[in-house]
Amino acid sequence: MTRVATQEKVLQKKAFIGGEWVESESGERTEVISPGDGSLVGTVPKCTTKDVQAAIDAAKQGQKAMAKMSIYARSELFYKADKIARARVESDARILSRECGKTINEAREEIDPYTLNHYIEAPEGFKRFRGLTNPYTQEDNINKRIIISHEPIGVVGIIGPWNWPMDIPSICATHALMAGCSIILKPASTTPFSIIALAEVFEEAGFPTGSVSVITGPGSTVGEEIVANPGTDMIHFTGSTSTGVRLTQVAGVKRLCLELGGNGPLVVMDDANVDAAVDAAVLGCFYLAGQVCTASERILLHEAVHDEFVEKLVARAKAVKMGDPLDETTDMGPLHNQQTIDQVQEHLDDARKRGGKFLCGGNIDGSYCEATVVDGVASDFLMYREETFGPVAPISTFSTIDEAIEMANETPYGLQGAAFTSSLRNAFLLGEGITCGTVLINESNNSWDQLAPFGGRKQSGLGRELSSWMFDEVTELKQLNIDIAKVK
Ligand code: NDP
Repeated sequence: MTRVATQEKVLQKKAFIGGEWVESESGERTEVISPGDGSLVGTVPKCTTKDVQAAIDAAKQGQKAMAKMSIYARSELFYKADKIARARVESDARILSRECGKTINEAREEIDPYTLNHYIEAPEGFKRFRGLTNPYTQEDNINKRIIISHEPIGVVGIIGPWNWPMDIPSICATHALMAGCSIILKPASTTPFSIIALAEVFEEAGFPTGSVSVITGPGSTVGEEIVANPGTDMIHFTGSTSTGVRLTQVAGVKRLCLELGGNGPLVVMDDANVDAAVDAAVLGCFYLAGQVCTASERILLHEAVHDEFVEKLVARAKAVKMGDPLDETTDMGPLHNQQTIDQVQEHLDDARKRGGKFLCGGNIDGSYCEATVVDGVASDFLMYREETFGPVAPISTFSTIDEAIEMANETPYGLQGAAFTSSLRNAFLLGEGITCGTVLINESNNSWDQLAPFGGRKQSGLGRELSSWMFDEVTELKQLNIDIAKVK
């Protein structure tokens, strides 16, 4: 994309290590370009593995400070952070939209309510997250006491994706800090400013020195060092399945919470409310131009509802207004980067070659891909087997519920599945039969409840995030076993 001039302020931010905003020890900087118009958003330091070591050393001290604070004192920091973050939603949303390419309305929503909710949910959840004390377990030893407690896991490395550059890292960040850990944030290279904004909020709220660091720079060097370095105790990673697999090879024996790719099925039964299912498909396929891990990547229609559903979806897809993400009236922005553009193009070409029927869209101009509906998608199509990560609705049909469940589970992914039906029996058969971390009945794949655990099965991930279940990931269980007959 050709570089264009911009009226927006060009940002010059630094890395955050040991409570100071600093340049990398290399002195090098990296440019961040807006996928919307090709303008320069700003520059950040290109950190090195030495910077990572400095952040880890600081984080060890910061973690001790966090662990010493009372739960109420930690909570107070979050309440302050919440107020600070609320006052900057609009300016942060503008930067998020520019660096990521999501529309300004999608960017506002990522911050308020999604990110802001964590500032309150984490302290409230942790206050109710308790260990367990057993008075004694065996009748012949009444002097025995077993205390089960949750200790902070230590230094947590958080490696973020570009498609939710603030909200996703903030989930682990808030829960880890609240549990008494320290964090090292590593943003995607193309969207560093949203994580920097998060760290600015934590700094202003007064989190202890070293408890929060930001390392900007390439995943292949500094990201991998954060994962491999024995100084980090846990890694929270959100990104592609291929990188997630790589991390399992370099992490060694270390807790990993991996939020990876998806290939979400949206099943529509013959007894479904078709209008509601079409609404869900529009949200599932075209929100953030389809670049969402939970997107509806495959639409599986009962043959009885096929014609009505397809006619309605095509009308809605044709009405999607694509364009400048900062324009308030835009429904859908660009694809984020060249890799995604190439992947979506490959999936469209493959579908054409295999005889898929393009009912609307199908073209990419620069970084903008039209809202696309392809009918007659079979299980050998790339867009059926793999994550497309673009604004594409691939349609396949089935005739029985068993067939629908088999098709839904026919890929190596298992993040969020959705199904539409008015029958309770079908709801249970589909809900229990689809092998995803979450199955949504009569809701879009792109639906999340922040008070419920979220995560993938199979190649979609390890562990759960969101809500008080996240505290299991950022803490270690300690069994303290005491014989009180032998102490004074
Ligand atoms: P990548 O895996 O390429 O990158 C994700 C992050 O990992 C970036 O910060 C990247 O840094 C870093 N990274 C890259 N290589 C390494 C490495 N060897 N060691 C450590 N860190 C590394 O993912 P994408 O950017 O392509 O993100 C899109 C993917 O994320 C999709 O598959 C999507 O489904 C998935 N995703 C999953 C979510 C979930 O909750 N399950 C949510 C959102 C997205 P750098 O940018 O510098 O390369």
